Amino acid sequence: MNILMLDLVGQYNKIKAQVDAGIQKVIASAAFVNGPQVKEFASQLGAYLSVKNVIPCANGTDALQIALMALDLQPGDEIIVPCFTYAATTEVIALLKLQPVMVEVDADTFNITAELVEAAITPKTKAIVPVHLYGQCVDMGPLLKLAEKYNLYVIEDAAQALGAEYTFSDGRIAKAGTMGDIGCTSFFPSKNLGCYGDGGALFTNNETLAEKIKMIANHGQQKKYYHEIVGVNSRLDTIQAAILGIKLQYLDDYARTRNVVAETYDKAFKELEWLETPARVMNSDHVFHQYTLKLKNASDRDLLKSHLEMAGIPSMIYYPLPLHLQPAFKQEGLEKGAFPVSEDLCTKVLSLPVHTEMTDEQLTYIIDTLNSFKKGN
Ligand SMILES: *Cc1c(COP(=O)(O)O)cnc(C)c1O
Repeated sequence: MNILMLDLVGQYNKIKAQVDAGIQKVIASAAFVNGPQVKEFASQLGAYLSVKNVIPCANGTDALQIALMALDLQPGDEIIVPCFTYAATTEVIALLKLQPVMVEVDADTFNITAELVEAAITPKTKAIVPVHLYGQCVDMGPLLKLAEKYNLYVIEDAAQALGAEYTFSDGRIAKAGTMGDIGCTSFFPSKNLGCYGDGGALFTNNETLAEKIKMIANHGQQKKYYHEIVGVNSRLDTIQAAILGIKLQYLDDYARTRNVVAETYDKAFKELEWLETPARVMNSDHVFHQYTLKLKNASDRDLLKSHLEMAGIPSMIYYPLPLHLQPAFKQEGLEKGAFPVSEDLCTKVLSLPVHTEMTDEQLTYIIDTLNSFKKGN
């Protein structure tokens, strides 16, 4: 049995005719950059997300960088980020000579909370970057209230949660990436809406920020060859936009399929006292970019990983080292022990295969193999 973390070939084969035709059309037109498919995709994604502006760019990391550049921040301004996440978020803050202020995450949801963030706010804090990790939204209601109270920007990192919906206490529903001032996402192939190369986008309902973002992503110009501010070159290729326009039609189906896999795992593992299945929260759905188990004992994690591996089942550790312990982001006073929950998670998490092409046979095989781990067979 060939079990993959992600079956992008299988996924492509199901929509091959549509995708091939879409790619061919771009090639035949030779509009490789800024072709009509880019605008079309941006407006389709805007409609899907119910957000006024979608600005495509070259990748998710660029999206985060451009978002921060649009806020007119000063060197040394503090930006609050989780310390248990992918490095891109903190990296762009550091690159822009801003000060990343890392905060602990919740042990069950893997996400930051308003409470954890509030303790880190200082007079220099200018923005919060919640990351909707693994595909489930940060509890945005309280976080947005906190941001309002302290007059802070909120830049959502929705790279792992595109399509996830959050329900506010008044019943209003919003999609990940559309709740803060700016939302950022990635279309890296492995993301829930992945293209066939690199891609990313920013979302905002704020027209002033939208204009600024467009300008920054396009060399700081509105009129060609007239540069008002220092920008970057960050574009989504037309071919990628054509592919994304097609795949967007299937995004909700993909999330449903991932949820079927996750629910099957949940049910199969709920009696196992040596692990915890991913916590689900009431006010967000989950698009399961990752299905991440938490082992009760850190000593089991690598043993389980090899047990699965020996049976031909891949698994991944997202993430093995929290950001405050990475040499690139070392800060005085943040030694080992500074964020015990995140440090502990790094030793206990294990992500299982979850994708849109998983068969019942594969699922059963993974479940049986995992179940046999403590039984010594
Ligand atoms: C993938 C990812 C990014 C970066 O996206 P790229 O397109 O690879 O630059 C940023 N943040 C999170 C949480 C991600 O998962």
